[in-house]
Amino acid sequence: MFDINKINYMMLEFTSACNARCPACARTKNFVNKNITPKGSLHLTKQHINNLFGVKWNNLNKINIDGNYGDSMYHPHALEHLETIVRTQDTSKIKLYIDTNGGYKTPEFWQTVAKLMQQFHPTSCITFGIDGIDNETHQRYRVRVNLDKVFENAQAFMSAGGIAEWKWIGFDWNDHQLDSAKQMAKDMGFDAFIYKNTRVRHKVIEQAINKTPQLDENTNSNISHKIVKDTNKEITTAKDFANDSVIKCKFRRDSNYGFQVEHNGTVHQCCHLPGYYNYQMPGSKLYKEYEYYTNKYTSNWNSLDEHNITDILKHDYFQHDLQDSWNNRTDSLINPRIIRCITKCGSYETTK
Ligand code: SF4
Ligand code: SF4
Repeated sequence: MFDINKINYMMLEFTSACNARCPACARTKNFVNKNITPKGSLHLTKQHINNLFGVKWNNLNKINIDGNYGDSMYHPHALEHLETIVRTQDTSKIKLYIDTNGGYKTPEFWQTVAKLMQQFHPTSCITFGIDGIDNETHQRYRVRVNLDKVFENAQAFMSAGGIAEWKWIGFDWNDHQLDSAKQMAKDMGFDAFIYKNTRVRHKVIEQAINKTPQLDENTNSNISHKIVKDTNKEITTAKDFANDSVIKCKFRRDSNYGFQVEHNGTVHQCCHLPGYYNYQMPGSKLYKEYEYYTNKYTSNWNSLDEHNITDILKHDYFQHDLQDSWNNRTDSLINPRIIRCITKCGSYETTK
């Protein structure tokens, strides 16, 4: 059962629009490179935000503004959405975390964001994705993002009192700049430097389950090699990892109990499901993995355009079906295990 009164966490994707073209981003891979955009880029509307925050969430203590397809602050009314949250919730106890490439809008915009963030819990911060210390290196992954602009915006944000982190995705081509980047982060006043390569583990599991070769552009950095090795070891310990692994939902931990809202106003358990199952063509491999659930409910059951947020969270999907699936098999006839839940949250550390 999903206990609505326990909700302390939300992840919001304000928009599917972005200035960048990162090659591994779902948006670039699935749409931009195929000359189609996700329905012309969609934004969470004022109505969606009013629906969500028409409720006073008494236990809400963390909001992540992040996304699968877009860079949320790129939303044309990002500031208004933040203002609505400030107006309707007790934001002094909400930690607000925003992820961005930071390479758009003006320094004044980022200064206003910093001021608004001061209405939230004092540990609130923005994480800037910076994967190189010169434009050439940075743009190998952050295609179209001007690094000088990122630094200008980040500095404007910090000078107005905002707390900023520097997030570095490790690749074989930027490993040699890692130490210099850490030093720059310190010198410029970033509060923390985060090395990230979370895509690796789930890719290895996914490829093992689907028996596909392990090819991924993110598996080449030094730290990734270790993740690949450890994950392979874990998988081979299990007879049938897909069905024997234990799934611990990252959005139902006591410290992280909540849901995700996608740019089109649909509500999901987490950010890992909509990115894979939205916009999939019937018949495609990914569509088939989720088809049982697509067919089981009406098409707009989780849309904030059609239902209020509490009714959506009371739906069978949130209340029973998804939770049942974690203890079922991938071939169960009712509420089968979802491959994405296995790859993202399955582990063989504790066996059944
Ligand atoms: S900055 Fe984020 S949303 Fe934009 S293309 Fe890169 S990964 Fe995708
Ligand atoms: S992938 Fe599945 S198990 Fe993991 S957080 Fe999402 S819904 Fe929960």
